[in-house]
Amino acid sequence: MPYFDHNATTPLSPEALDAWSAAASSAWQNPSSLYRSAARVRNALEATRAEIADLIGCAPERLIFNSGATEGANALFQFFASRHPEKSILLSSVEHPCGIAAATRFFDGRIRFANADDQSRVILEKLQQDLESDPPALVSIMAANNETGVLQPWEKIAEICRAAGVPFHCDATQWIGKLPTENLGRCDFVTASAHKTGGPKGIGFMIVPEGSAFYGQTGGEQEFGKRGGTENFPSISALHAAWTAIQGSVNSIEQLEERLLWRRKFEKTLTHQIPGLKIAGQEVERLWNTVSLILPKGANARWVRKLDRRGFSVSTGSACSSGKEAPSHVLEAMGFSAEESQRSVRVSSGWSTSQEDWQNLETAFIEVFEEIREEPEGGSLTTVIQI
Ligand code: PLP
Repeated sequence: MPYFDHNATTPLSPEALDAWSAAASSAWQNPSSLYRSAARVRNALEATRAEIADLIGCAPERLIFNSGATEGANALFQFFASRHPEKSILLSSVEHPCGIAAATRFFDGRIRFANADDQSRVILEKLQQDLESDPPALVSIMAANNETGVLQPWEKIAEICRAAGVPFHCDATQWIGKLPTENLGRCDFVTASAHKTGGPKGIGFMIVPEGSAFYGQTGGEQEFGKRGGTENFPSISALHAAWTAIQGSVNSIEQLEERLLWRRKFEKTLTHQIPGLKIAGQEVERLWNTVSLILPKGANARWVRKLDRRGFSVSTGSACSSGKEAPSHVLEAMGFSAEESQRSVRVSSGWSTSQEDWQNLETAFIEVFEEIREEPEGGSLTTVIQI
């Protein structure tokens, strides 16, 4: 069944499942206990941490395991807001809802948005000026957008923030597992979740600067005292196995180019076959797996249902906002109207997606368009779902 919603979540990879089962059955001891069987788990945990840190280009002491990107953003923003009650946070206007919600809660009324071009990319010169004129407590900008796949110039942002002496957090949830990660360690803080890239749900990590006073939650002294709670070694082991298994693909220019070609071919055919179709961020660098289509007719839920009946899983936007009719803040930031946003469908492939899957999805989109073209405009979302 062609699954085109990898930005929402991915299936557990076979390598991750094997690693999880092995650790759950034979490395279940509490890593903090003193006997030898527990020390073996502790050693395995530290060896795993070192290997993951190596993939991200940072020292192992900077890597803290947690439950994922939402926890990371909440912990980080709460920490900075309490340390700098007078300062603001600077975000891009297309951050994931977890970033926007955490900033709204903890920096109540002290949120600034970075100037961006009409494709939602942060304008570096303006950022530099902003940091000089009024340095915020923290800059938080994602590496790749979950709805459109548009890439932010995060390496340059990291440099600008460093020069200005302002800490920089990068939400790399959609970047990791798709593009090379060895420079991510250049950011002060990074957050991510394992389940976007073949790992289990409810496990992820954050990177913090060496010697940082940051702590997320108190309790035991786990994770260098920065995130109390017994470590979930089976899931950490599965996260590691999932990422290791795709490293060859992520770091292969040929494979990345091939995937990009498949996506571009899909976009080109649909643009010719579906008059009035728009693609968000079409002209700029995007993830090889993501297409955000603004369809010329029909509510997005209607498209999703019709494609589902043909065996294709796609999404109406980010998973967190699907099911709600609120227009996408990401598309709005790119100049699309609320009405256009209600006609947007997100397609996101994975490493397991074949060229044939893309071609079949192309055909399905064209068939659904022919159907919807003949039908009267649908009513509410509920009516559409009941059809
Ligand atoms: N950041 C981005 C860019 C995401 O795409 C997501 C999930 O869709 C998150 C953060 C939140 O991830 P999680 O729900 O695993 O905490």
